Amino acid sequence: MEWLCIDFLNSDWRDWRGSGRRENRLEKQEWLESFLQKWGLTAPVPAAEEVGTSLLQLREQMRSMVEAVVQGEAVKAENLDTLNRALALAPVHMKVSKGEGADYRLDQVSSVEGWPYVMARIASSFAELLTSQDVQRIKLCDNDDCKWVFFDESRNRVRRWCDDKMCGNLMKVRRFRERQKEKG
Ligand SMILES: [Zn+2]
Repeated sequence: MEWLCIDFLNSDWRDWRGSGRRENRLEKQEWLESFLQKWGLTAPVPAAEEVGTSLLQLREQMRSMVEAVVQGEAVKAENLDTLNRALALAPVHMKVSKGEGADYRLDQVSSVEGWPYVMARIASSFAELLTSQDVQRIKLCDNDDCKWVFFDESRNRVRRWCDDKMCGNLMKVRRFRERQKEKG
């Protein structure tokens, strides 16, 4: 299952191989364009400076909520306030329109466009995840250099790595080397 909010959270990229390199992908035009396209959203790219600041702030507060959830702790009130402010950026209402033939369709629409709407959508995706029964499925990759956010769909929620072939293998190799050192 894919989540808009998780894609957004992972715009804070860290080099999982441990070089310490980190990249704020919200500043990358190409990343922003494909992110918006993937989720069927429209907003000006690159984002204006103050938009960039608000996006960064929203991401930081969401990240801190993910960390709380992962550790089984309560989410901070100030984090929830930020989330609620983002939710309020684009009030939505229902709209009925004529569909195919005799059918009608009901959509949720907003009169707000651009980044405020995108931010409200990110916030609502996160709010949905936070309040769902699946909240325990939000995880951070166990590789300390990576910490990629993912949604654990395994039956018993046992997944530890963002990717078994990458972080999973790397951590296995590291553990093996540590054991060798202890023996030696
Ligand atoms: Zn990872």
